Amino acid sequence: MVPVSVDVAERLAHARDLWPRGTIALATGGAMAPSPAAVAWPRTEDEIAACVSWAQSEGVAIVPYGAGSGVCGAAAGRAGSLALDLKRMNRIGPIEGDTVRVQPGVLGQHLEDALERVGRATRHSPSSIWCSTVGGWAASRSAGQFSSKYGKFEDMVLGLRVVAPAARFGTGAWAEGEDLGPWVMGSEGALGIISDLLVRTVPVPAARRLGAWRFGSVEAAWDAMRGLLQADLHPAVLRLYDPVDTRIAGKGTATKASAGAGWLDEIRRAAESVPALRSHLLSLPLALPRLLNALAQGVSSGCVLIAGWEGEADVVEVLSRYGGALLSSGEPLGEELGEHWYAHRHEVSYKSAPIFERGGFADTMEVATTWSRLPALYEGVRAALGRHVLVMAHFSHVYREGCSIYFSFAGVGRLEVYDATWRDALAAASAAGGTVAHHHGVGQLKMEAAARELAGIAPRFHALKARLDPKGVLNPGRLFPPVEVPEPAPPALGIDPISQVATLAAHEPAATRDAWLAGEGWELRFPAVGPLASTVSAPKQPWETRILGASALLDGRRAVFLPVPRSAAGPDPRASLPPDSYETLTVPIVRRGEAVACVDVTLVECLAADLRPTRVLPGAVEFRGPAAVELAAMATRTKVRVPAPPAPPAVADPTEGRAS
Ligand SMILES: Cc1cc2nc3c(=O)[nH]c(=O)nc-3n(C[C@H](O)[C@H](O)[C@H](O)COP(=O)(O)OP(=O)(O)OC[C@H]3O[C@@H](n4cnc5c(N)ncnc54)[C@H](O)[C@@H]3O)c2cc1C
Repeated sequence: MVPVSVDVAERLAHARDLWPRGTIALATGGAMAPSPAAVAWPRTEDEIAACVSWAQSEGVAIVPYGAGSGVCGAAAGRAGSLALDLKRMNRIGPIEGDTVRVQPGVLGQHLEDALERVGRATRHSPSSIWCSTVGGWAASRSAGQFSSKYGKFEDMVLGLRVVAPAARFGTGAWAEGEDLGPWVMGSEGALGIISDLLVRTVPVPAARRLGAWRFGSVEAAWDAMRGLLQADLHPAVLRLYDPVDTRIAGKGTATKASAGAGWLDEIRRAAESVPALRSHLLSLPLALPRLLNALAQGVSSGCVLIAGWEGEADVVEVLSRYGGALLSSGEPLGEELGEHWYAHRHEVSYKSAPIFERGGFADTMEVATTWSRLPALYEGVRAALGRHVLVMAHFSHVYREGCSIYFSFAGVGRLEVYDATWRDALAAASAAGGTVAHHHGVGQLKMEAAARELAGIAPRFHALKARLDPKGVLNPGRLFPPVEVPEPAPPALGIDPISQVATLAAHEPAATRDAWLAGEGWELRFPAVGPLASTVSAPKQPWETRILGASALLDGRRAVFLPVPRSAAGPDPRASLPPDSYETLTVPIVRRGEAVACVDVTLVECLAADLRPTRVLPGAVEFRGPAAVELAAMATRTKVRVPAPPAPPAVADPTEGRAS
């Protein structure tokens, strides 16, 4: 029997996730989120299937519930529904080679602890790692603090087991036939319940080096960050705090005592001395967001960038040496700030409760785009938010082709302020050509904005849902509500040299495509022997972005995917559409004539030494950028220290050659 409860406390506990709108409603005595009729805790895939089949036969909505740490209302209950809490599915293992099999209800930190005991890690490290589950990560396409090196969680998932009313199936390495993985990840429980995962692991990094630099402006720092990524120097951490975030959150100083110091603390201290003011403490100053934002801008002291490398010690030494040189337009601030961030990296997210207690609200918005559109996205969203709330931002989750922006904001804790803030900010993100979600998913908060962003694939999503979930019981009515969107024009063909991407005709023969690119001084980062459309679904490494954007004709209508390195605005099937349907593809390119070092080692040999080549060619790998020659030399040495599988007894010392 599946454990089930109709206890009111359990139902209330599963009525909502950590969407700040729900917290404001609670704090202001507004309407509670509707609570589910019952909560079930399945322990096996068969028990999930039993719950799903019961819900289907009774026509009851079923809402999967991981740890409820989502911040967009995705796991919030609905009246009369069955909440399926997956935390009793908490088995880890086997851990074999570079994979781990893990059940969906495992809390993130428990997985990392178990892996660390055998010298492995996922290095997926969201701030919510203590209060979010592996299944929730996959269902909402989460990103961790080291994503610039290891990718987002969706990049680490090698296989899923999924239970839907009409089918149980595997994806990726566990797929039998059609691979629905790209549709299930990011589908927030609407296409199936994830019951098992196969996840890639890496060795626990042997070394880490973190540093901090101060730049005079975000623009100067963006150039340095982009230079680092496009030189393939693979930082694990790259976080730029805008001037307000640098000032308010104390990134400008290395001491913990000063974190958060400044004029906000002064206001807080003064008002807290008057008990009657305490509950209105923040609603008073936050009622003047434009003034607050102007004041915050006025005390700017530049912006702080934290950069860090981790992995094999020799690789870290080379990458951080060349990386430091590329950041030399900033003022070096030493290692202490970076180490301070590392030690406290999960803390800041748990500090918003006092803001709600004091009559305010705090929230975050994560958007992303290509480098060339980043300034417009930053200015557009910041201005939209700044009309309603005090706003600051940092830039993290960085890619060769673009970057995400993480806005943090605080406003008066009233629902009408909250709703106006998000309405304007989402519209501004869309207008600037950014994705409305980089890693927090969609939920109720962004469902209309995401539906507009991915209008072209909504019919396919609904067709798949009808096939897997014919009675529509799985987390119904959330992803892709009906929206009216005019059919978009096809994206213009051409090169974006800042983001180092090209938008090309998907079916153009390789010879004419490559000749045109060469004439412009570029070549494909991922060489393709045929038309691009035939290569889109080639396997990729977690840090690689093979397809940024696409346009395709689906069911007689054009679907356009924004050029963006990663998104969490629902599923990401942009690389798995029928090859014939593609019109254009936006793909990464590299400059011809850059410093290149090519060595005849395999990708497996490179990865065993923690090296990430720029390009993988037939029988060889290629490194580019200033460190190319040294990295290639390290890759060559790898050949003697990586035993061929199965390991022959003769290769006794796997560290041979490492010290040279
Ligand atoms: C303090 C704080 C910090 C955060 N920091 C980060 C961060 O750094 N990076 C980041 O990416 N996010 C972050 N988040 C957001 C949140 O942690 C992520 O969205 C996370 O992926 C949600 O996991 P969960 O297990 O809590 O899922 P839930 O909130 O329980 O559910 C999320 C969605 O997934 C569905 N779902 C859950 N489990 C399954 C399953 N097994 N099968 C199918 N569907 C399922 C739910 O129905 C819901 O639609 C943060 C949140 C908080 C509160």
